[in-house]
Amino acid sequence: MATKTLTTLEDLLALELKDLFSAEQQIVKALPDMIKAASSQKLQAALKEHLGETERQVERLQQACERIGLNPKGHKCAAMEGLLEEGAGIVKQKGKAADAVLDAAIISAAQRVEHYEIAGYGTAATFAKLLGHDQIAALLGETLEEEKNADSSLTELAESEVNVEAVGTEA
Ligand code: ZN
Ligand code: FE
Ligand code: FE
Ligand code: FE
Repeated sequence: MATKTLTTLEDLLALELKDLFSAEQQIVKALPDMIKAASSQKLQAALKEHLGETERQVERLQQACERIGLNPKGHKCAAMEGLLEEGAGIVKQKGKAADAVLDAAIISAAQRVEHYEIAGYGTAATFAKLLGHDQIAALLGETLEEEKNADSSLTELAESEVNVEAVGTEA
């Protein structure tokens, strides 16, 4: 987030939408490398499923922006750039780290992304609702649920399998 002059809550909603649009586009580009680096089939499958969802989330944001005549382009989410840079650093450890440890690290990075998105969509949906943009609020709420589900699936996978395996690895 950040930049440009903000006067009204409408301005802030516009900025939130542009920030999320940039974040989602960056995620679409970054997820394939994380999928390739994952060893667990279930982790690969979970990330692949979320990549498909993410592509649809970009479209939803375009629809939301269209409703208020907003061009979603032209802003970069610096926070997502940083989170994904950390994710790329983890991906580079492939072959050095034990497989289960790398998977645990990928989940850790992916959950940071989901939590950022949950904050962004939750906030934007609230603003849209307050401003009477009910259709936009509905679109954002739909994505918010997907992000929460992605986050809980990752927690479930970490706790039931990946972390358990990672504990047993030796240096
Ligand atoms: Zn941002
Ligand atoms: Fe997303
Ligand atoms: Fe912190
Ligand atoms: Fe997500």
